[in-house]
Amino acid sequence: MKVGFIGLGIMGRPMALNLLKGGFDLTVWARRDASMAPLLEAGAKGATGPAEVAAGCDVVFSMVSDAADVEQVALGAGGVADGARPGLIYVDMSTIAPAAAQGIAERLAARGVTMLDAPVSGGEVGAINAGLTIMVGGDEAAFGKVKPMFASMGKSVTLIGGSGAGQVTKACNQILTGVTVVAVAEAFNFARKSGVDAGKVREALLGGFAYSRILENHGQRMLDRNFKPGFKAWMHQKDMNIVMQEAHRLGLMLPNSAATAQLFNAMVGSGLGEEDSVAALKLFEQLSGD
Ligand code: NAP
Repeated sequence: MKVGFIGLGIMGRPMALNLLKGGFDLTVWARRDASMAPLLEAGAKGATGPAEVAAGCDVVFSMVSDAADVEQVALGAGGVADGARPGLIYVDMSTIAPAAAQGIAERLAARGVTMLDAPVSGGEVGAINAGLTIMVGGDEAAFGKVKPMFASMGKSVTLIGGSGAGQVTKACNQILTGVTVVAVAEAFNFARKSGVDAGKVREALLGGFAYSRILENHGQRMLDRNFKPGFKAWMHQKDMNIVMQEAHRLGLMLPNSAATAQLFNAMVGSGLGEEDSVAALKLFEQLSGD
């Protein structure tokens, strides 16, 4: 099968490289030549836009930013639908709202394209190591065809349900990771203001019920004051906004998510949006008179 990949940023670049390593015949496109270059050097073919990628492929993946970008790539002028041959499977792996994913899937279906929503968890490290967790929504037969490609990019691959179900799962993931990263920042700031070494607190708590990979990995990054993204704070703000929109639509109370969403809003407003979400620690420090 011929495979296409669109969007070669922090996540998309290593994911596409892993498809190449998996032996797939790969065609890529990104807006900027600089983003395309590492893939072309590694042996991928380059295309001039999403329609050209779609014209030459059986399966096309995208890993862009938000719903508007997915819509543009899939359905905009020169988008995937414009070049699609019959039977094309389009797999969007970006994190977008479940309702947006369903809407795009419906519009693509009317043009003969089957869409899977397949957002991921595991961050840049998981993307590089082919260790992503991939949560999929959509048609079972299409999922079966794409499974070998998912296996080149991820370790845990689950078909959750119909269209949008992958994005619902990712929203659950973002509730858990968002609330936890903020809780770690809050706890470390509390320790420091109490005159206690946050590094020792982390070390002690890693052996107890408060253990989490976020305490371990993100906690260490906070201690190292390594705020380079990783996962940009504005992206986590985007994801908490998705969660809050869904809560509004469903008439649901999500108090912890609401507080976390507010904190990411404040990070973006105070100029921390392009830093990793572990820079939440800086916000707590600023609000503690530091
Ligand atoms: P990123 O480094 O900013 O990459 C996004 C890429 O998409 C950029 O290369 C950008 O191109 C391209 N893009 C955006 N809009 C586009 C459009 N309309 N048309 C064509 N290309 C477009 O972001 P990332 O960290 O890889 O995140 C990508 C997605 O994965 C997001 O939905 C994010 O929420 C999700 N995600 C990220 C992580 C993580 O740890 N980073 C983990 C899980 C999920 P330009 O370079 O030209 O701007």
